[in-house]
Amino acid sequence: MCGIVGYVGNKSALDILLEGLTNLEYRGYDSAGIAVNVDGHVELYKAEGKLQNLKDITFEKKEHISKSTIGIGHIRWATHGAPTTINAHPHSCNCGRVAVVHNGIIENYKELRAKLEKEGCVFRSQTDTETVAHLVAKKFAQTHDLTEAVRLATKEIEGAYALCVIHQDIKNTIVATRRNAPLLVGIGEGEYYVASDVPAIIKYTKKAMYLEDNQIVTLTPDSMKLIDIDNNVISQKIEILPWEPVALSKMGYKHFMLKEIHEQPDVVRNVLAGKLRAIDENISLNEVTLDKESLKTLNRIQIVACGTSLHAAMVGKYIMEELCGIAVDVEPSSEYIYRKTVGDKNTLVIGVSQSGETADTITAVRQAKSRGSHILIVTNRPDSTMAREADSLIPVSAGIEVSVAATKSYTAQVISFYLLAIYIAEIKNSANKENLSNLKRELILLPQKIEKVLSHKEDVQACARRFANSKDFIFIARGINYATALEGALKLKEISYINATGYTAGELKHGPIAMLDESMPVLSILMKGQVYEKILSNSEEAKARNARMIALTDSDDTKINDLFECIIKVPEIIETLSPVLAIVPLQLLAYYIAEFLGKDVDQPRNLAKSVTVE
Ligand code: GLU
Repeated sequence: MCGIVGYVGNKSALDILLEGLTNLEYRGYDSAGIAVNVDGHVELYKAEGKLQNLKDITFEKKEHISKSTIGIGHIRWATHGAPTTINAHPHSCNCGRVAVVHNGIIENYKELRAKLEKEGCVFRSQTDTETVAHLVAKKFAQTHDLTEAVRLATKEIEGAYALCVIHQDIKNTIVATRRNAPLLVGIGEGEYYVASDVPAIIKYTKKAMYLEDNQIVTLTPDSMKLIDIDNNVISQKIEILPWEPVALSKMGYKHFMLKEIHEQPDVVRNVLAGKLRAIDENISLNEVTLDKESLKTLNRIQIVACGTSLHAAMVGKYIMEELCGIAVDVEPSSEYIYRKTVGDKNTLVIGVSQSGETADTITAVRQAKSRGSHILIVTNRPDSTMAREADSLIPVSAGIEVSVAATKSYTAQVISFYLLAIYIAEIKNSANKENLSNLKRELILLPQKIEKVLSHKEDVQACARRFANSKDFIFIARGINYATALEGALKLKEISYINATGYTAGELKHGPIAMLDESMPVLSILMKGQVYEKILSNSEEAKARNARMIALTDSDDTKINDLFECIIKVPEIIETLSPVLAIVPLQLLAYYIAEFLGKDVDQPRNLAKSVTVE
C-alpha cells in the first residue's frame, strides 16, 4: 500500500533509499526500514513512526551503512500487525540472509505461516509479509538461485503484492515482482532502481519499465532480466516517464495541500486546453475511442470510484444525466465488486481514481470489462495499472498530488466529467445548444473565478478560526452540490479528524435534525439556482433548532445576513458549474481548521495516498 524503493549500482545506496522513501512519504505510512549489504552481510535498520526516526538511526552508523551499493527500503501502512519496529519491513528468515519488502496483502499467510512454523521457521513479527521471507529462504535452500526462489515462492502466495528481495549469498542482485500492486524499474547507467511509484526515482532517471502482474525482474548493476511466473523470458517495454522532479516542491507554501489548492486555476486551464477551444466549436475528446454510433446507443453508464473520486463521479452523474439523457449509476467500487451487477456492451463503465492504483476500482473495471463493457478511465496517472486497463483513457493532467487529501485532482476529475458530458451531448444532440454554449463560456471563465476565491481566503480563515473547536460539523446542499457537501465534509474529517457529515438538505428533517443544538455548526451550500429557496428554508429549520449557521453562497441576497453567523462569498456562477467553485472554500476551510488545530495536514493519520489493498 505504501512505498518500496530499491537500488543496485555503484553508488552508495543509503542516501538513494532514504531520499526515495522521503519522496514516497506523502503516501502515508506508520514505520519504515531498509536492508543493505555491508561487507557481505545483510543488515536491517527499522524504526516505528516518522521517517525521521529511521534517518536518525542510520545517521549514527552512516559511514558503515554507506559502504553498501545495494539496498531495499520500505515505508509501511500496516495491514497485518501493529505499526511497531518489529513489524516494520524489511523482514527476514531464520538465518537472516534474506531481506524482503512488500506492499499489499498476502491473503493465505495464515496457512503458509502454520506450515512454515511446522517446518522450523521462527517468526518474529505479526505481519503477513514475513511468510514471504521464510518461503523465499526455503526455496533458495533448494535451488541456490534467488530468481527461481522468488518465482517458486510467488506460486504459493495468494493476494496482492509488490516485492523486492535481496539475499546475502547472491551479491549485487535485487529480485522484484508484483501482482495487483504497482512496481516499476528505473534504468540508469550501470545501476537500476525499483520503486512502487515514480517520485521515489524521478530525480535519478526518467527511463523506466513498469512491471506487469506475475513478472519477475532480476537486477544487477549491469543487467536486467525479465521473466514471467512460468519462467518464460519476456521482452522489456522501456519508456520515458512524463514527470518532472520539480513537482515535489512546496514552492514556498507551508503545506503541499495549500499549494495544490492554489494550483487549481491552472489545473482547470490544463484540463480544458486543446479540448474546449471555442464556445462555438464542439468539444474535442480524442481520448474517447468508443465510436460515435455506439455512444449514441449507450443505454447506461456506471461510474465506479472511491473516496474523493466517488464525489467527483457524483457530480459527473448529475451533469451526464442532465446533458446526455443517459441513466448514470455511481457506486463505491468496494460495493460494486461483491454483488451481481448488470451491464453489457451497451453499458459504458467509467473508473475514476487519482492514483490509478485503487485496488477496488481496478477489480471493478476488470469485472465490467469481462462483461464486454467499454472501460473509460479518468485518472491523474496515465502510467498506472488502471490506465492500462482502459479502452478509453482521460488523463486529468493535475500533476503529481502530494498531499494525501485530494484537492486539485478532484477539480481536474470534475472538469473532465463536464468535458465528457458536453462531448456526448454534442454527439447525441441531447442538450439545448444555448445551454451548452453557456456552460462552455462559464468553463472558460472558471479559472479566473477560482482565482478570485483564492484571493479572498481571509474570510474562510476567519470562519475556520471561529469554528475550529467544534466537535462535529454538518454540511447541507441539494442537487448537484450534494457531492460538494460530501466532499467538503470528507476534507474536514480527513485532515482535522472532526466528525463531519454531508447531507442532502431535504433529508435533514428525516433524522439528522435531532442532533442540532447550539454547539452544532451547519454549513449550507447555498448556490443560486433551482434549489436555492429550498436550501434557504432548510437552513431556517436548522437555525430554529439553534444550530450555528454558516453559508457558502454566490448570492448577494441581504436577507440571509440575519440567518447566518458566517457567510463565505464566491463569485456568481451557473448552477451546473457551481460544484467546482463551491468546493474551493471548503478545501480551504478544512485546511485552515486543521492547521489551526496543529494537525499533520499533508500526512493525516491512518490514511494513505494510494489505496492498493481491498
Ligand atoms: N501487509 C503488509 C504489512 O502489514 C504490507 C503493508 C504495506 O503495503 O505497507 O506489513
